[in-house]
Amino acid sequence: MTPVHRDELWIGGAWVPPESSERIGVENPYTEEVFGHVPAGTAEDVNLAVSAARAALPGWANLPAAERGAALGRLHRALAARADEIARIVGLELGTPLKIAKAVQAGLPITVLAGYAELAAQPWAEETIGNSLVVHEPVGVIGAITPWNYPLHQVIAKVGAALAAGDTVVLKPSEMTPLVAFLLADAAAEADLPPGILNLVSGTGPVVGAAIAGHPDIDMVSFTGSTATGRAISHAAADRVARVSLELGGKSANVILEDADLVKAVKVGVGNAFLNSGQTCTAWTRMLVHRAHYDEAVELAAKTAAGYTLGDPFDPATRLGPLASAVQRDRVRGFIERASARLVAGGLDAPVPATGHFVAPTVFADVDPDSELAQEEIFGPVLSIIGFDSDDEAVAIANNSRYGLAGAVWGSDERALAVARRLRTGAVDVNGGAFNPFAPFGGYKQSGIGRELGAYGLAEFQQVKAIQR
Ligand code: NAD
Repeated sequence: MTPVHRDELWIGGAWVPPESSERIGVENPYTEEVFGHVPAGTAEDVNLAVSAARAALPGWANLPAAERGAALGRLHRALAARADEIARIVGLELGTPLKIAKAVQAGLPITVLAGYAELAAQPWAEETIGNSLVVHEPVGVIGAITPWNYPLHQVIAKVGAALAAGDTVVLKPSEMTPLVAFLLADAAAEADLPPGILNLVSGTGPVVGAAIAGHPDIDMVSFTGSTATGRAISHAAADRVARVSLELGGKSANVILEDADLVKAVKVGVGNAFLNSGQTCTAWTRMLVHRAHYDEAVELAAKTAAGYTLGDPFDPATRLGPLASAVQRDRVRGFIERASARLVAGGLDAPVPATGHFVAPTVFADVDPDSELAQEEIFGPVLSIIGFDSDDEAVAIANNSRYGLAGAVWGSDERALAVARRLRTGAVDVNGGAFNPFAPFGGYKQSGIGRELGAYGLAEFQQVKAIQR
């Protein structure tokens, strides 16, 4: 295939040469070949990008809402025109099967950006409290640092909201999947956005990420990724008391109550756990099943997992692609190797394609709720099944996690809703309720701080001022 080489950074509304000639190779996790590269940015590139974002801030922040909305509308149209290319690039750099890449990796961020273009066109909220006029203002220059598993969605959740809120942005995408962010910069160029409101500096976490997190002129760092890195970024930002928002890991429970539609709950549950080869922060990786239906659920989950077709992401028959990297594959295999539960599907000896960083869809039953399997975020196609005897016990097991990102409950409507209210997570889907890209998204506990998406996501990027009269 034709290599995809990007040799410049998008700073101040122009493609500029990076300070260093060093490049970061991008691997296709199915063919295991390096098919592209991006600049390995430096702290000096970050300085340039921050200066451009700072210079652009007053103009962008003070623009009438209708003009900001129009600019984001142009960006949305330019991005939507690239939908097929976005899906292709994410298929190449991450290995997401093409059908899912089109719907989720391309479709979702385009939808989210359309929503932010609409929100941007509305004046920011104002209210009167007694003798105070309460107004909203941009936070300032935002540093956005994103991971590789939904590489454009996670970027748009930050960039769309921050721009709609009147902020300007310095973006660092994951070094494993940086190419799709360059398509966003292409769209920004085509949309003729005011120079400097969006800047792209590719590079590694320890160099470009750390330079953003510790930069004295970045007012807020918005991060999605692992809890360990989130902690490091919080420490760096704390030195200058900069605002931080964090979207971190998860270990979500799928609670299947006694009166649930078992077949649907198990099938949808397995599909959710294995979406994007299990590399999804909200994945329902713990399936909690009432003991009355436990054996049936285990059998059905094992059968569903065994029915997955693994292979080339660009083959329409493929349901499960490879993991994003050899490191990720080996990490996931380590969890399977150390597990002491009952293996009912997949495992280390199950057949996988000859090339690509594959792990077979794996299901463990009789998992100890305190074990590594049930507590750690595995980020691969590994599902743990745990039994319970009462709704109270199900809630206790579900909440027995240092994470609190998402979850699901299946059962008669009122009962399932009552259990949903008791889960200590930022989101819960009841009886298969669909993901809502405009509803607040974020974590309790160590899953993060703050919310993304929709109006709540925009509010995260604004300050609130009280003016007394
Ligand atoms: P990661 O934390 O290793 O990397 C995320 C980003 O941080 C990358 O851009 C990386 O370059 C950068 N980074 C790494 N070290 C840094 C440092 N010292 N300073 C500044 N930046 C640094 O995570 P990952 O491996 O890319 O992503 C997987 C993790 O992300 C999983 O744990 C997953 O649960 C989590 N995640 C969470 C959400 C969410 O919304 N809650 C969404 C997706 C992924």
